[in-house]
Amino acid sequence: MHVMSKPWEGYFEPLKIWGNVYFVGTVPASTHIIDTGDGLIMIDSGYLESLYLVIHNMYKLGLYPKDIKYIVHTHGHIDHFGATKALVSLTGAKTFLGRADAPCAEGKVPLSYAPEYNMDFAGTFEPDVLLDDGSKIELGNTVIDCVSTPGHTAGTTTFFFDVTDGTRVLRAGLMGGIGPNTMEKEYLDRYGLSYSCRDEFVAAMDKIKEYKVDIYLGNHMQQNGTIKKAEQLKSGDKDAFVNPKEWREACENAKKTLFKVIDGDF
Ligand SMILES: [Zn+2]
Repeated sequence: MHVMSKPWEGYFEPLKIWGNVYFVGTVPASTHIIDTGDGLIMIDSGYLESLYLVIHNMYKLGLYPKDIKYIVHTHGHIDHFGATKALVSLTGAKTFLGRADAPCAEGKVPLSYAPEYNMDFAGTFEPDVLLDDGSKIELGNTVIDCVSTPGHTAGTTTFFFDVTDGTRVLRAGLMGGIGPNTMEKEYLDRYGLSYSCRDEFVAAMDKIKEYKVDIYLGNHMQQNGTIKKAEQLKSGDKDAFVNPKEWREACENAKKTLFKVIDGDF
């Protein structure tokens, strides 16, 4: 069985990606932490079933769950927010989600992708802050610029923020969601959704590909080649995740992947 269906088996060693940004798991869905100097921002909490792996990884890096102040979500699918409710009860963290995806998190519409993963979904939560295009999230030394990138879901949000190692400052971009699965005819027809999400997705990729990004972060590890970069990190290359060319290519590739999937599919 694919690891997506068994998230509790998706362990991956935690990584100090660069400066004050960290990867804390897992194979099926990525969770990142920004250490702002005044508390931690978690970006995507992952599946509820793999929360224990994420917490283990945080301790391994010397990051403490009690310090999580904000939990920010790329979009309203359970592989990215399934553990949020549990983490909020543990930490009291404030939660953020793209406005259009709030009904998914609140369990008001069956669009959390739980049915597709064959999972019961008990982790409903009401986001404290609803994100719009241009929203800013500020904590400690960090300002996250939020850009709406609808398509994968209506509320998918991509994040841009500075990271620092104390000497240099680099720009990170964390892609909000590029899977074409929710833009396929079958999925759209099943939920009576508009095909216009495909055009919105292409427009969003064309918009954000112009952004300056030194460090490309994804919300699934295969997106940005995490396995290979983790090996490079291990062998001493501290800049393994730094590649200013990668972001634009990723945006272009995301469009190509969508075109391939929906080719003749109208
Ligand atoms: Zn998704």
